[in-house]
Amino acid sequence: MPLNHPLATVRQRIEQAAKAAGREPQSVTLLAVSKTFPAADVARFAALGQTAFGENYVQEAVDKIAALRPAWPALQWHFIGPLQSNKTRDVAAHFDWVHSIDRLKLAQRLSDQRPAELGPLQVCIQVNVDGEASKSGVPPEEASALAAAVAALPRLRLRGLMCIPEPRAGTAAQRAPFARLRTLRDAIAAENGLALDTLSMGMSADLEAAILEGSTLVRIGSALFGDRSARR
Ligand SMILES: *Cc1c(COP(=O)(O)O)cnc(C)c1O
Repeated sequence: MPLNHPLATVRQRIEQAAKAAGREPQSVTLLAVSKTFPAADVARFAALGQTAFGENYVQEAVDKIAALRPAWPALQWHFIGPLQSNKTRDVAAHFDWVHSIDRLKLAQRLSDQRPAELGPLQVCIQVNVDGEASKSGVPPEEASALAAAVAALPRLRLRGLMCIPEPRAGTAAQRAPFARLRTLRDAIAAENGLALDTLSMGMSADLEAAILEGSTLVRIGSALFGDRSARR
């Protein structure tokens, strides 16, 4: 892979941020967010060793996964977008992870619909760390109760928390909401006796700040695949 390939550049950013945080680079998973880009683009990244891909739109993702499964059976698929209750069956059947659980009904449906031949669906609870009415995610003060209920569902495995903060300029400002999510994760784990090993936080513009605050999974789209603004 050329040194200036976007995948090399993003891996380098992760490595440098991890070093600055005194963490092992391998403690941060790179999720390549391939929404709006075709299966052929995913295959090019898979050929370079990228294994985990994130998608936002159910039908687009199901088509892409079906196209790629024969040649790339080991890819891991993460659903990261807003999820409507009437689309949970396809997500339960085709994905390995869901990061956007923000209400119990959604989690119950995913658990009920997870096919018996598959292992448990790995899930994160999405928290609204900025407290704006327009954004999805459970309010921070309701996250602990939701986590306890989700953790009790038989076909799900609760792994941690996810957030999408409002865009902010500068590392210091970007770190604040990520720090809040980490503190909340620690509190929820302690209160409920849960092992929550995942903080899904950090995107193309703020992955360094997220890693400094303990992110274990960064969701990177445009820095890998390019601009999406004209694609959907
Ligand atoms: C699109 C998307 C991303 C990737 O965003 P970029 O800024 O392109 O890296 C990450 N997380 C979620 C939930 C997304 O919808």
